[in-house]
Amino acid sequence: MSLTKEIQKRRTFAIIAHPDAGKTTLTEKLLLFGGAIQTAGAVKSNKIDTGTKSDWMAIEKQRGISVATSVMGFEYKGIKINLLDTPGHQDFAEDTYRTLTAVDSVIMVIDCVKGVEIQTEKLMEVCRMRNTPVICFINKLDREGRDPYELLEEVEQKLNIQCHPLSWPIGMGKTFKGVYNLFDHKLNLFTPSQRKLSDVRQVFENLDEPELDQLIGPNFANQLREDVELIEGVYPEFDKEAYLSGKVAPVFFGSAVNNFGINEMLDTFIKIAPAPKSRKTDEREVTPDESKFSGFVFKIHANMDPNHRNRIAFLRICSGKFERNKPYNHVHGPKPLRFSNVTQFMAQDKEIIDEAFPGDIVGLYDTGNLKIGDTLTEGENMVFTGIPSFSPEIFREVVNKDAMKTKQLEKGLKQLMEEGVAQLFTFDMGARKVVGTVGQLQFEVIQFRLKNEYNATVEFHPMNLYKACWITSSNKKALDEFVRSKNRHIAHDKDGKLVFMAESKAWLQMVQDNYPDIEFHFTSDL
Ligand code: GDP
Repeated sequence: MSLTKEIQKRRTFAIIAHPDAGKTTLTEKLLLFGGAIQTAGAVKSNKIDTGTKSDWMAIEKQRGISVATSVMGFEYKGIKINLLDTPGHQDFAEDTYRTLTAVDSVIMVIDCVKGVEIQTEKLMEVCRMRNTPVICFINKLDREGRDPYELLEEVEQKLNIQCHPLSWPIGMGKTFKGVYNLFDHKLNLFTPSQRKLSDVRQVFENLDEPELDQLIGPNFANQLREDVELIEGVYPEFDKEAYLSGKVAPVFFGSAVNNFGINEMLDTFIKIAPAPKSRKTDEREVTPDESKFSGFVFKIHANMDPNHRNRIAFLRICSGKFERNKPYNHVHGPKPLRFSNVTQFMAQDKEIIDEAFPGDIVGLYDTGNLKIGDTLTEGENMVFTGIPSFSPEIFREVVNKDAMKTKQLEKGLKQLMEEGVAQLFTFDMGARKVVGTVGQLQFEVIQFRLKNEYNATVEFHPMNLYKACWITSSNKKALDEFVRSKNRHIAHDKDGKLVFMAESKAWLQMVQDNYPDIEFHFTSDL
């Protein structure tokens, strides 16, 4: 098959949702449709229950699950779908943000009872930064949820994206009758069932047909007629380009656990969702159909097996054909790398593969050469951009409790940071090491893994810090002067980039006002 055909046949996306909205359930149903799994219950939730006391097993279990579910590949109607898993827990938000850099579109799940929740808002912000196309699935219609018009309005307001319903619910909760597909004018009647895979759909070119009254009763039929008239008046014809540029989100209604409304969404998804797109590097834009391979690492999993210090780096292929055992240029490293152990992840299994194409995600077994954000190419020295580290929100000083294990600690910290568990900043003065994270849980993970995998003992001491800001300036003199005058607050990140450690919001504001020549950045993707 030609490269162009391989590209056209792929769709790489992620499901994003606030915990409990139904991401795991939807994932599982999609895999059932794709024939990748046979039974419900096969997909494990990657949720961590932190309601109870810190539970190391839960964290380890989560790591195990997230390797198994990092990428789930399946075929549906001739399309190769790569579904990337995103951890729902907010403490792992950074992992999710990075995963979003490796997809071409997302499906967002919203609970019709709860509406738009906080984590959804945050994830949408990341999607909007990249103009990622979004399809919205409003879930749990079998429950008494909120009015659909109200839900759409909330999505538009809170997520700052225009909605365009492509299906419309008839009733809700106990009276839920089904959905009407506004796109192809088909009526899909609801029968609660967790097993059934295909819905029988009835075509209504004209909703005035009396048969509609017989099927759902005159009250619901009239309500549907009114709703459809209203919606068709409010929403002009569906604009695929507006969806592809991230401005309009098509909306579907359904019930994941009942397998309802999902294949309608999936059928539309394969028609409208983008095939692998072009990506920016520091030098130029790379199109997927270029003959030469290129790709970037967006996730690393280390030490799954304590007996082997190996890691799996997840590579998104951006252009050309990736081949096993072929040496590639490691743009950030000293020497070319070749990979003999290349896996592709299917729902529950992984398989060794020889080649992969743009849009695919492969797992590379690596002994410590690759870092998050690294680019591999077939020669060119370009670097894919847009894989940022975000300014952490919680900071703690690393205190070594076992001087005999200093080397192990350094090594462990370095590797965990390369894996993207957290960010390490080293103050210029006194070389104090500070770990910054987006959630409390990461400190527990780091402490536990340093002990378990590197035999190093640390404590974390609270630090009075508000934000780490990467600083740059086109005026070198001004930058040098700033660094000198603020030297107690200057640190370097793991890549040696200059960082200003601000103690409070007010103070940061004042410093920004006083030093107009200095640019303060809140992500490392400068
Ligand atoms: P996640 O945290 O987003 O992965 O959510 P899950 O898929 O684990 O779902 C959370 C809970 O909602 C589970 O108990 C599901 O059974 C339930 N759930 C998912 N979809 C539906 C639905 O369509 N209707 C109802 N009533 N419950 C659902």
